[in-house]
Amino acid sequence: MGEECRRADEPRRFHVGDADNFCVVCGEPLETWQLAAIVDGNLTDFENRTTGTITLTICSECLDAILAHIDEGLVGAINRYISRNENGDSREDNK
Ligand SMILES: [Zn+2]
Repeated sequence: MGEECRRADEPRRFHVGDADNFCVVCGEPLETWQLAAIVDGNLTDFENRTTGTITLTICSECLDAILAHIDEGLVGAINRYISRNENGDSREDNK
């Protein structure tokens, strides 16, 4: 639907009805063929004190970032936190 001529380096332009999904991490619209992962499971929402099920649709770039964070584990998370704070970019500053 709505295919148009465009240069390879031009960003894809979505028209109403083109996107079937969106990435829940970055918020970009996605066509079905662009889905990199779907996570289906239980949700325990501690902030709102509720439980349920959740389906997360994720693009390729965000899946790569998620998998990298999983690979790096807690040590990577602590190193990122230290690096952010050394650069004066703590999460508290960004709120
Ligand atoms: Zn994404």
